[in-house]
Amino acid sequence: MRMVFLGPPGAGKGTQAVMFSEGMRFLHLSTGDILRANVKRGTEIGQKARSFMEQGLLVPDSIVIEMMLDKIKTSEAGKGFILDGFPRTVYQARRMDEELKGLDLTIELVVYFKTSIDIIIYRLTGRRICRDCGANYHIVNMSPKKEGICDKCGGELYQRKDDNEEAIKKRLEVFNGQTKELIDYYKKQGILEEVSGDLDAGKVYEAISGILNDRDKNRT
Ligand SMILES: [Zn+2]
Repeated sequence: MRMVFLGPPGAGKGTQAVMFSEGMRFLHLSTGDILRANVKRGTEIGQKARSFMEQGLLVPDSIVIEMMLDKIKTSEAGKGFILDGFPRTVYQARRMDEELKGLDLTIELVVYFKTSIDIIIYRLTGRRICRDCGANYHIVNMSPKKEGICDKCGGELYQRKDDNEEAIKKRLEVFNGQTKELIDYYKKQGILEEVSGDLDAGKVYEAISGILNDRDKNRT
C-alpha cells in the first residue's frame, strides 16, 4: 500500500509511520529524516539542500521531491511506502503524483489524522527531539531513560523553539489553511480516510490497520 499520512504537527503521524514501517515493512519516507540523511552523507542533492538551510531558507519542493523519489527507486519499498509530512500543499501533491506516474505508481490511501488543538499543544510543548537521529520523546508520555539523552543513539535532546503555545497556534493556522485544499484534492480521488489523532498510539494503529484490512478485502 502506498500511503500519505496527513495531519497537523503533534497528531502522531511520525509515530504511526515508524510503527507501520517496523511492523509491516512499509518504507517510511519522512522529509525531515531524508533531508538530514542526505546532508549528512554529503550527496550532491544534500549539498544543494544544505545551501538553502544555511541561509535559513526553505528547501525547494523540487529538491525534496527528488530526494523522496531517489529513496523510492533505490530502496526495497517492500509492501509499499508511507509519506510522512509530505505533501503539505496541493501543488506538492500534484508534482508528486506526476513524478510517481512516471514510475507507474500512484498514491492509494491518504490517512488524515484529525486532532484537537488541546491535545496538540499538550504533546508539542512536552516534546523533546534528538539532535543526532531526530527521534521524538515526550517529557510525560514517552520520557527517555536518562533525562536529556536519546535512548537510541545517546544524542542530546532539545526542545524546538517553536514548540510553545503561541507558535503552535500559528503553525496550526498555517497548516489548516494549506490542508483544506489538500484534503479536497484527495477526497475527490476517493482515497481519503480519517482517523482520530487524539487517541493513544495503539488505538490509532488499530484504526489504520482496520482501514488497510478493509481495502485488502475490497481488492480481492
Ligand atoms: Zn538519537
